[in-house]
Amino acid sequence: MPGKADVVIVGAGIAALALAVELQNKGISTILLERQKGPEGIPRGLTFQPNGLAVLEKLGALGRAKEVGSASQILEVKSWEGEVLLEADYGLLEHPQNYLLTANATEIERLLVYLAEKVGAQVLWGASFQEVLQNGGRADGVIYEAEAGRDEIRAPLVVGADGPQSHIRTNLGAKVKTKKYPDSFLVGLVGPVPGLEGRARQYQSPGKMLGIMPSGPDATYLFHCVGPRSFDRVKKEGLASFREEVVQAAPEMADAFTGVEAWTKMAYFTPSFIQVEKWVGNGIALLGDAAHTFHPHAGQGVNLALEDAVALAGVIEKCKVARDFSQTPLLEYQKERKMRADVIGKHANYTVTYALSDNWLIKRLNKRALHKLNKDKKLQKKALEITAGIFEKKPGLVTLAKIGGILP
Ligand SMILES: Cc1cc2nc3c(=O)[nH]c(=O)nc-3n(C[C@H](O)[C@H](O)[C@H](O)COP(=O)(O)OP(=O)(O)OC[C@H]3O[C@@H](n4cnc5c(N)ncnc54)[C@H](O)[C@@H]3O)c2cc1C
Repeated sequence: MPGKADVVIVGAGIAALALAVELQNKGISTILLERQKGPEGIPRGLTFQPNGLAVLEKLGALGRAKEVGSASQILEVKSWEGEVLLEADYGLLEHPQNYLLTANATEIERLLVYLAEKVGAQVLWGASFQEVLQNGGRADGVIYEAEAGRDEIRAPLVVGADGPQSHIRTNLGAKVKTKKYPDSFLVGLVGPVPGLEGRARQYQSPGKMLGIMPSGPDATYLFHCVGPRSFDRVKKEGLASFREEVVQAAPEMADAFTGVEAWTKMAYFTPSFIQVEKWVGNGIALLGDAAHTFHPHAGQGVNLALEDAVALAGVIEKCKVARDFSQTPLLEYQKERKMRADVIGKHANYTVTYALSDNWLIKRLNKRALHKLNKDKKLQKKALEITAGIFEKKPGLVTLAKIGGILP
């Protein structure tokens, strides 16, 4: 068992694995602790935006990701009745990866595990974080619990990449603002849908939302809002009734449920918006969902997490050279990344509120905003730059008000 490394990362999700690849490539030894037994989970799709795709390319993962996923250049928004409200064209973006890529999340995790281990990172599967070790007022490693019992890893930097309910964040004592959304979602991978090639489609109507995205050669990622219903209630209503609900909005999904006989192919979740005031401390840094969790409607969580990983690796390299992993040098990472997370978190919050609200004023604004974005390609490009995570400076209030249909 290894007992020492330059960096110990709690969690081996996509953000953690990307960081491990970057660190090992810089000659910084890395151990990851993951409470799960391996990179397995309920099959679900994950959409990568241009900013995340650029990082996958840097990690040497883009080619394979494209093989297992599906690229879409058009993001189409339709009403429940089938009227096209917006055709957003990623081709308008001046970016080498001007498209969306949706893939099975587990396949991407497996790919990154392979790349991280290839460059020498060690992943301890089935290892649950227990405690942060302290030395002179700063973190100095962690204690974890595995099948073989309790053990410890000493490292001058502990990275919390342990997701939205991060224990490392609690340990850091960071102030957290959490908003739980009232509507829950069912997600899963179903069969192929004819005519969806090159398109990500979303149906929306007040209180309703259905996303369908091609995800690899034979699969479609389904993202369906079930409102305030519990998973038990949806299950009681039955798979046939769920299918009917989906097909009512999207008749093209009629044959996609062949082979989906059990709820085990679907995951239920209620999104949250988590804003974290402080991302770093003495010998500690937070990464990915541990530092920011958004509504997945924006499709940015994993993309920002990948960018965070690259930024954090650069700062860690400087800390290693200076032999200083205290809060002061680590703050450079927070300064570089937090503004982008704040902009995208708020954008996700507003777009999902617009899409689902039953309030007459918001409904009108949403319709106006979609209509305007559809017609005005310059404005569409500005809005897409935010969604794609490639905006250069913080968008001003006037731009946001125009995108939101508030200003003409
Ligand atoms: C249904 C759904 C759909 C989504 N769709 C998209 C999308 O299309 N595009 C997008 O950009 N984002 C999407 N997101 C968000 C995206 O999945 C997350 O932002 C991203 O996965 C965050 O990665 P992470 O590595 O920070 O955290 P996670 O993937 O949550 O990884 C954290 C890891 O830490 C481990 N862990 C936790 N506690 C411990 C512990 N005590 N000890 C050891 N290990 C521990 C967990 O087992 C887990 O493996 C979606 C999220 C959901 C829920």
